[in-house]
This record gives sequence, C-alpha cells and structure tokens, in this order.
Amino acid sequence: MGEPYLLTPGPLTTSLKVKQAMLKDWGSWDGDFRAMTAAMCQKLLAIAGDGGAEFDCVPMQGSGTFAVEAMLGSFLAKDSKTLVLVNGAYGKRIVESLRYLGRDHLVIDKGDYMPPRGDEVAVALESDPAITHVVLVHCETSSGILNPVQEISEVVAAAGRKLLIDSMSAFGALPLDTRETRFEAMVSSANKCIEGVPGFGFIIARKSALEAAEGNSHSLSLDVYQQWLNFKKTGQWRYTPPTHTVAAFTEALNLHEQEGGAPGRLARYERNRNVMVAGMRDLGFETLLKDRWLSPIIVTFFNPAHPNFSFPKFYDLMKSRGFIIYPGKLTVVDSFRIGCIGRLDEHVMRQVVVAARESLAEMNVDSACPPESALKERARLAA
Ligand SMILES: *Cc1c(COP(=O)(O)O)cnc(C)c1O
Repeated sequence: MGEPYLLTPGPLTTSLKVKQAMLKDWGSWDGDFRAMTAAMCQKLLAIAGDGGAEFDCVPMQGSGTFAVEAMLGSFLAKDSKTLVLVNGAYGKRIVESLRYLGRDHLVIDKGDYMPPRGDEVAVALESDPAITHVVLVHCETSSGILNPVQEISEVVAAAGRKLLIDSMSAFGALPLDTRETRFEAMVSSANKCIEGVPGFGFIIARKSALEAAEGNSHSLSLDVYQQWLNFKKTGQWRYTPPTHTVAAFTEALNLHEQEGGAPGRLARYERNRNVMVAGMRDLGFETLLKDRWLSPIIVTFFNPAHPNFSFPKFYDLMKSRGFIIYPGKLTVVDSFRIGCIGRLDEHVMRQVVVAARESLAEMNVDSACPPESALKERARLAA
C-alpha cells in the first residue's frame, strides 16, 4: 500500500504532478519566478470572475491564518468596527485575531453549527450605525457547514457596509464570483480546493480597498497594502517566497483548469460527498447537518453510541486501511469528520466506506447509530 489518502481539509492529497513540480529550485528575484507569480495571480482573479479590472490578487507567505490576519489588519482601519459572524472554530479565530489587533468588534455567535442568516445581520447593522465591516466564514470547516454567503452579502451591501470573507476551504470549488457576490476582500490558501501544498495564502481584494489600506496594518510582514505595492512595482514578493510551493500551486492551477475550473471541481467534490455520505448512512452513521447545509468540502458524523466504539481506535483502523480521517471539533457531542477534497474521487470514497465497515466490525461495533443526545441536538438545529 502507498501513502494514505488524506481525508482532511488541507493539507490534503495532491497529485503526483503537483509533487513533481517541486523538484526544481527557483531564484525568487528571477524573471521566470516573477512571471510565474504574475500568471498565478491572473488565474486566481479569473477563478473569482474578475480579469483584474476591479480586483487584484495579493499572495501572502504563511498558512491560511496568516493571510486572514493580514486581510483583517490591512482592511480594517484603526477606527473601524466589525461584526463577526461566528459558527465554529474559524469564526472564533477571527474574533481572537481582532482582539490581538485591537480592532473594535461585536459578534453574532450561532454556536457550533447554526448558519448566520440575513435577517439577523440586517437587524444588527440597523441597530449599530458604527459598524463598518462584516466578516463571514464561507465554509466553516469545523462542522462543514456551508454558510449562506450570497444572502449575507446582499444584506451587507444593502446596509452600505463592507464584507470580508474567509473563503479558505471553499474558493476554487464553491462559487464566489465578484460579479455576483459583493465583497471587499476574500482570502484562501494554497492547500485547500486548488489542491496545492501548504506555504502561502492569497487575498483577492477590490483595488479601491487596497488603495485605501495604506497605513492600517499593525504588522510589517502582514501588510497587504505594502505587499501589493511591491508586486506592482517589482513583481516580487517582499520577503522570501515559498518558491517550491508556488511552482506546485501553478501545476495545481493547470489541473484545476483541465478539470473544468471551479464547476468541474465542485462536481467531483459533490460526487465524493454523495457517495461517501450515502455509504456511511447505510452503515448507520448519521451526519450532524441536514442535507441543505452539508458542504461538499468536509462532513461531520456523530460517533456511534455503541460502547465498543472508540475514535482513536477507529482512526488507527482507518489509517491501517489507507485513510487518514479527522477528529471532530464540536463542543456538545462527540463527532469525527471526513473530507471530500483533494486528489480523490468517488472510487476512493467507496473504499472509504468499505474501510469504515471493516473497522467497525474489527471493533465489534454492530451499529453505528449515534446516542439519543446527539439526535436531540440535531433536532434542535432543525427547529
Ligand atoms: C484551513 C482554514 C483556515 C486556515 O487555517 P491554517 O491552518 O492557518 O491554514 C482558515 N479558515 C478556514 C475556514 C479554514 O478552513
């Protein structure tokens, strides 16, 4: 057996071509590398539905969180006030960043997995005229919930405020088009739906927002305005870029295009999810979310109630069959997650279900049914 499949939301399983693209060294100042960076930004803008007319793309070294923090620190002026829509760990991380940044904010926290809705956002914006920005997580990877980005963007635009989006685990598969969804800036990273390796994130922002961002940032290295200016002036990253990661990402973008862009990728991820969820439900597993909110990115399942079930053991048995799954991130009920993204298809997902069946059998778990308390919790969500 080769290396295991990563059923995780990034780092994820990449194609051999992406890995092979890292076998060459690049000079960061060299024209070839500068051209590669420029072409990469152009392709990312195209995926976002903008040819570079109104928006620009600014890559930023580091993991996705670095790029989120760069976006927040650079676009939120020191006298801004931000409404953060939280329904999971990544929303909470944004709140924590704002605390570090010392930017005024308030929070609508929907708990582990209820979606924020347009009407409540409208009420909050109406009742506090000081709010300048709203931040939304597109797909909240901690539960897998797909938040209603279009609905929120319409409400924010109607109220004359600005929207920032953490589209980390959604961009490149789920639709997010500058011509359809009104936003100031969004952020994603190399190792999610474009299927590259970790090392940098990128911010796609309105040029007017970039121009207005001068002097906002608390941080030298995370200043999106200065990074943008440097790319415009020299075509170079300001500090050492992750050269091999950029080369791998360029290959990942080629594969993305060959698959039919975001719609092609979304179709494969949806098939992955549908095959995997149907198979797991056949085994008696239950999903946390109703179908309407289930993203094609990652799916949360309740742990079975059976006394012989143990997640660490299940994890090891799945790994021995070639699949790395992901622990849950809910506070109320025990759960685990299975990702649908990365270089894998429905045939792999069928094997995942077979592996889950065999792993349960090996633990002497004859039913994957969740505990009553989990089903009650889910009923609360449906209400
Ligand atoms: C992956 C992810 C991030 C960034 O996480 P890093 O570990 O810093 O790469 C941020 N937000 C969401 C929604 C994510 O899925």
